[in-house]
Amino acid sequence: MPGQLEVVWFKRDLRLGDHAPLAEACARARATGGSVLGFFAVEPSVIHAPDYSGRHWAATREALAGLRDNLRVLGIPLAVRIGEVVELLERLRAHAAGKGTKLALWSHEETGNAITYARDRAVRRWARAQGVEWNERTQTGVVRRLPSRDGWAAAWEARMRAPIVAVPDPARGWTHVDPGEIPTTSELGLAEDLCPDRQSAGEAEARETLASFLHRRGKNYSREMSSPRTAASACSRLSVPLALGTISMRSVVQAAHARMEELQAAREVGAPNDGYRVGSVRSFIARLHWHCHFMQKLEDEPRIETQSFVSAFDGLRAADPMGDRAERLAAWSEGRTGYPLIDACMRSLRASGWINFRMRAMLMSFASYDLWLPWRDSGLVLARLFTDYEPGIHWSQAQMQSGTTGINALRMYSPLKQSLDQDPDGDFIRRWVPELKAVPTVFIHEPWKMNAEAEQAASCEIGKHYPRPVVDHKEAVRQAREKFSEVTRRPEHRTETQSVLRTHGSRKRTTEKSSDSRRTKKSLRAVSDTDEGQLELGV
Ligand SMILES: Cc1cc2nc3c(=O)[nH]c(=O)nc-3n(C[C@H](O)[C@H](O)[C@H](O)COP(=O)(O)OP(=O)(O)OC[C@H]3O[C@@H](n4cnc5c(N)ncnc54)[C@H](O)[C@@H]3O)c2cc1C
Repeated sequence: MPGQLEVVWFKRDLRLGDHAPLAEACARARATGGSVLGFFAVEPSVIHAPDYSGRHWAATREALAGLRDNLRVLGIPLAVRIGEVVELLERLRAHAAGKGTKLALWSHEETGNAITYARDRAVRRWARAQGVEWNERTQTGVVRRLPSRDGWAAAWEARMRAPIVAVPDPARGWTHVDPGEIPTTSELGLAEDLCPDRQSAGEAEARETLASFLHRRGKNYSREMSSPRTAASACSRLSVPLALGTISMRSVVQAAHARMEELQAAREVGAPNDGYRVGSVRSFIARLHWHCHFMQKLEDEPRIETQSFVSAFDGLRAADPMGDRAERLAAWSEGRTGYPLIDACMRSLRASGWINFRMRAMLMSFASYDLWLPWRDSGLVLARLFTDYEPGIHWSQAQMQSGTTGINALRMYSPLKQSLDQDPDGDFIRRWVPELKAVPTVFIHEPWKMNAEAEQAASCEIGKHYPRPVVDHKEAVRQAREKFSEVTRRPEHRTETQSVLRTHGSRKRTTEKSSDSRRTKKSLRAVSDTDEGQLELGV
């Protein structure tokens, strides 16, 4: 295949390091005298979908600019085009054919939403029809066409321990196309989306984020991950790099293992380690595993993006006894529910595009149980707000925190308990809800309990400067439980949940003592996701 054009199609893998399609394309171009072109499509069907927002594009744009610079060093141009992929690729193929050059396509597999799934199938059909070779490589632990979850964890380990793919040597770039400008958010017609504290995106930033977490920020990870006061610095913050693909999951896993070994060795000889806990790294590695475990659910069953795992729960929240769903959704998404921690978290999320796991779970639980909103509606709001939006994790988690998976206990977070536990002095609340700045700590978690005198002293009249609670939490969750038990009592419910468990439950070697002591048998068996991130919660 002399003179062939090797097109590397970048999607959610905006990096040079550990990029098998790029490395292989370059190697072949060098071996055959061909040339390489990087290609990125800004797809209108994707960016104008309801789960997409301006902050997603702002982060992607920044990462793309960095990628273009890095590729340039290798001699490879990055062509950025607006349009649907098949159409763009066909144009490129015809252009190359006009120059007597055949085209081959290289990319990573993607577990995206229904739109990217349909697009990948269309690309496959196009490639077959045009005789274009399309080489796809894996980049996470997600397995295509997985027959069963048995053995999945071992396969994940094997992939994560495989050697990191080195950044390729320079190759001959395909220079017959104009690389094109990387469009701005407004040029794409996306709504203004102010996110002043957005995490910066780029391959070097991702590496720096990983290093600072493993050597400094994460030393009290396990202890500090739950509170929104400490989590922003104690958590890895790798979700954005992983979602954009500015770092590979394998690089993160291997760096974490290396760090754990270093810490263990230091512990054995009594060497100083600046108080960095081995347990923190262990706990982090477990979460990296969950990343792919949750994505695998969407890969196996794409319908869970829009339909409940257990179909009987579809429609449960559609009937709207309160009748003011749009207003409740707006109050929640704008941070004016009258529950201080809920509002503080939502406003902080709006400003930064990130919030920690426990607060995400609390926000979702409040929308689903207290406000009785369908998970898809509130899930879309969060998808647009999370710069790290990853459909596979997101929709599984959205359903998990809404009680519709059938295999997880109903976890209804008490906003008051979370507030007292995670922000006892109210510092985080006061920072994000300035209306409550002068409210004394005794009332900060329940400002509606202030009397007129206290309101005056705090310059905050409830109902005027800050809303009354939109709903009574205790009563709302009581009603939610009742509605759920109506469904779970039905005989067909059990059959359906068993099927969900068989398909999606992880297989875990349960030799360690878990807090659910019935699960301490030495066996490999399906366990619900309760064991994966939920037992530690105590909500
Ligand atoms: C309703 C809801 C929606 C969510 N949506 C997303 C999403 O769109 N994208 C996303 O990356 N995460 C999502 N999560 C999971 C989790 O909250 C984030 O991964 C985490 O807060 C990101 O911060 P971090 O990278 O500092 O996490 P760390 O605590 O440092 O964890 C390291 C990595 O492990 C993975 N991870 C951590 N917790 C989980 C988890 N519970 N499930 C799966 N993977 C996990 C992520 O890749 C994360 O980057 C969601 C959680 C909830 C409750």
